[in-house]
Amino acid sequence: MEREGHEQVVFCRDRSTGLRAIVAIHDTTLGPGLGGVRMRAYASESEALTDVLRLSEAMTLKASLAGLEFGGGKSVILGAPTAVDRPALFRAMGRFIDSLGGRYIPTEDLGTYTADIEHLRETSRFGVGVAESLGGGGDPSPMTALGVVCGMRAAIDAASLFPGLRGKRIVVQGVGKVGMALVRYLLEGGAEVLVSDVDSRRAKEAERIGAQVVANETVHREPCDILSPCATGALLSERTIPELGCRIVAGGANNQLATLGDDDRLQARGILYSPDFAVNAGGLINVADELGVGGYDRERALATTERIEPTLRGIFADSARSGAPPGAVALRLARARIAARRRADS
Ligand code: NAD
Repeated sequence: MEREGHEQVVFCRDRSTGLRAIVAIHDTTLGPGLGGVRMRAYASESEALTDVLRLSEAMTLKASLAGLEFGGGKSVILGAPTAVDRPALFRAMGRFIDSLGGRYIPTEDLGTYTADIEHLRETSRFGVGVAESLGGGGDPSPMTALGVVCGMRAAIDAASLFPGLRGKRIVVQGVGKVGMALVRYLLEGGAEVLVSDVDSRRAKEAERIGAQVVANETVHREPCDILSPCATGALLSERTIPELGCRIVAGGANNQLATLGDDDRLQARGILYSPDFAVNAGGLINVADELGVGGYDRERALATTERIEPTLRGIFADSARSGAPPGAVALRLARARIAARRRADS
């Protein structure tokens, strides 16, 4: 907690449902910690803890760079391989989250859905990304995907490729909520789309709408214009970067770099990296809008998401000027806004 600057980490266990979860609040300088509930069958508690600490920090950076008045928080449910009473599990999760008094506001993430957040809201005053009929903005994933498309446009220009999506060969790893929405936008835009997923049903679904399926184990090697990680984190590592077949990386997944040094490795290979927390902010913007003046306003959320494109253009221009890799530039900008607020508040 001290090393990465986390404010609060809470371990939760509910006897009746078997819920095991961790909530991490990284930084609330700009506002309450906003971020998804991830549900995965983690190999160990320590793997889950590492994930939630890294993810909550990424949320702080994402909210800051997107200009939102929110801090960073995230939670993970240590998913059991056996079937569970999902509504009861999320109601139990809701009770823990409510006890934090609004310091952490949950929404959906990898492995969780709008319906889960609605169950969570039965026991918690806090929770966004609920259905339109309940005053929310619905599933934020399509907005995340739209933001990724905005980021891709900026990256295509910065890499001096022929403008626009048409004719681009784009590889999407992970065709879940974000990845599948992205595939639809890319196909509509005239791109050639290749996908991989550990779940063959998801890959088949993408194939049905016009994508081509490739092996997940070697997806990073696929020759393409853009590699779009939209599954779990750490696809880009010391091992995979020398093997990458792309010119650009731009995807929805959180924490795409295994380590900070991978930012430099990508730059050294001449691959343009679109910092994950800059390019995948659309969903966060969409759920944050539910708490804005007058409640959820889709047009306002859309306009804020479209700002991802100029933000990315600014990052790439700064990187070209300063020589610093894009990830480092994005980190500096995000941290500077928080530091300025801290100074103003003190
Ligand atoms: P999801 O659970 O709906 O989909 C994830 C997909 O990835 C699934 O189809 C799953 O089978 C596949 N997958 C899992 N592990 C894989 C692996 N190792 N290799 C290949 N495929 C794998 O999740 P999602 O909501 O689409 O989120 C995807 C990523 O985007 C996550 O990193 C999430 O944190 C990030 N993200 C999501 C949102 C959002 O709005 N949902 C917003 C910002 C960032």
